Amino acid sequence: MNLYEQAAKLLKDGKYTVALTGAGLSTESGIPDFRSSTGYYANIIPEDALSNDVMYNEPERFYKEGYQILKDLEGKKPNDAHFALTKLQEMGLMHEIITQNIDNLHQLAESRDVLPVHGDASHGHCESCQSVYSFEEIDDLVQGGEIPPRCPKCGGLVRTNVVLFGDAMPVEFERAIQATERADTMVVIGSSLRVMPVAYLPRQVKNLIIINKDMTPYDGYADVVIHESAAVALTRILECLK
Ligand code: NAD
Repeated sequence: MNLYEQAAKLLKDGKYTVALTGAGLSTESGIPDFRSSTGYYANIIPEDALSNDVMYNEPERFYKEGYQILKDLEGKKPNDAHFALTKLQEMGLMHEIITQNIDNLHQLAESRDVLPVHGDASHGHCESCQSVYSFEEIDDLVQGGEIPPRCPKCGGLVRTNVVLFGDAMPVEFERAIQATERADTMVVIGSSLRVMPVAYLPRQVKNLIIINKDMTPYDGYADVVIHESAAVALTRILECLK
């Protein structure tokens, strides 16, 4: 059996499978990841630029540097890897999709049970009255020179729903832990598995499949490791399941 057939067999035999996805899943949608040679680390340090410390204490810098990462997501569309995961869910072979991505592309590909454990850039909210604003509404304020943006209703600070470095983990992370506890099989796709606490999750499952262009710290622990593009690998696995 080749690697794709081995992965397909694990998915078929698995009693409860979840996916854990990272920025590599969306590079084929034109969104840079963090740690590839073409990733954001080449120019900025995301832990700093996308931290709540910088957002609160150096807003001019936040809206010049880290905010650019959120702005780059505008207009992006799901790729074959996102659609393949939706297909696996329709076939009954995939349950929750735990994602570190903030780009909303799993939802646009009509996947269900998506758990965005690092939040979602498509919306933000007022920290005082909790009014919710779309990214476009917030961006209108920012482009109009309102830095940091203020709530048009109450004047409170408006911030992104992305979980910034330094923020507490959201309720979706609790749900991701519970889904992982239910699972016997996990497919990790396009994640360097270097961002904690999410990178602990693959340790909890019996069967692990990793699809990633580069090596990850979990490769030695996984049952199947496919060093290939996410869209190519998932399409081949789907073909094996036909
Ligand atoms: P990462 O940048 O640390 O790792 C991405 C991994 O994906 C790398 O190991 C790379 O080799 C691999 N990769 C790149 N393109 C690939 C492809 N086409 N197919 C298969 N593998 C590919 O990303 P991470 O582990 O998700 O952690 C970074 C953090 O960055 C996350 O917290 C996430 O919130 C944030 N982030 C999100 C987006 C997004 O929403 N699209 C983009 C950049 C960063």
